[in-house]
Amino acid sequence: MASPKLSVIIPVHNESENIAPLCARLLPVLNRITSLWEVIFVDDGSRDDTLARIRTVNHDEPRIGAVSLSRNFGKEIAIAAGLDHARGDAVVIMDADLQHPPEMIETFVERWKEGNLMVYGQRTDRSDETRVKRGFAHLFYRLFARFGEIPLPEGAGDFRLIDQRGVEVLRSLGEKARFSKGLYAWIGFKSTGVPFVVEERLHGTTKWSFRKLFRFAFDGMAAFSTVPLRIWTYLGFLISFMSIATAVYFLVRTLLFGTDLPGFPSLIVSVMFFSGIQLMSLGIIGEYVGRIFAEVKRRPLYVVQERLGGAAEVSSSLVQDDPRLRRA
Ligand code: UDP
Ligand code: MG
Repeated sequence: MASPKLSVIIPVHNESENIAPLCARLLPVLNRITSLWEVIFVDDGSRDDTLARIRTVNHDEPRIGAVSLSRNFGKEIAIAAGLDHARGDAVVIMDADLQHPPEMIETFVERWKEGNLMVYGQRTDRSDETRVKRGFAHLFYRLFARFGEIPLPEGAGDFRLIDQRGVEVLRSLGEKARFSKGLYAWIGFKSTGVPFVVEERLHGTTKWSFRKLFRFAFDGMAAFSTVPLRIWTYLGFLISFMSIATAVYFLVRTLLFGTDLPGFPSLIVSVMFFSGIQLMSLGIIGEYVGRIFAEVKRRPLYVVQERLGGAAEVSSSLVQDDPRLRRA
């Protein structure tokens, strides 16, 4: 039984219309690289006929398989599921909506053969996004660079090739709040970026609402930084200092000009201000406690409902090691 050399993981959530066009464009590229490839669609709880469409392509081409999750777990978890099932020496992760041009995979493989264990696609522009979204993305990267454990290369997303060694490390990371971009950077290894232009989404709409993106950014921050927790300590010091200064000011004023102090409005304002600060800091602590809770429950990351294709179906006519994929 030949094991595939190149695995392509594609998380899909309601991408029914994109399956066939994606395969039509992806397969010639893969065949140019090696015949020992496999495609693993991770069906992330699609409610349309995505899985049925994959079944159709799997019928003609058993190297295209699927891992179907029992419900929608989110793209990050879907990628983790794909990584667990990928058997290739190199694993490519890409989106299903053809925003990630499949032709890039050839370049990825070349860079990989040159000795890079991680080759990431680096989007050169974000013109497909609204200005507000872009602004927030930029702000996020800056904050992350300043406060995160490790810097993230800007514009590097999930479209990438990871060597088996990297995949093994990623598999061993059991965290639930998965922020893949951070994890890729965290595992290190010799990496290189390949610029690419993001194409328009072929069918359907993006699965990321603004709210989801914000949540995602916060998850990323919380997973790789404790600064949101520490801010409150500093703020606490600052506010204490300010209150002492104010106390001194009032004392001096009272001593010099008597006790004529109409303090009601300022009292209300400061009470409200400080209760706000306290609730906010408690909220942030709560976010972290919630994450600890999620992790200590030690639930599995995902639940597989069905598998399509995979190890048993890799055609035995492909037994020979493919010389085109031998590394320098
Ligand atoms: N996706 C997924 N689970 C989700 C949301 C999205 O598997 O809960 C997949 C989706 O099908 C697509 C990829 O993740 O293949 C990227 O999603 P999308 O195109 O909506 O994100 P964007 O390109 O706007 O960042
Ligand atoms: Mg997309």
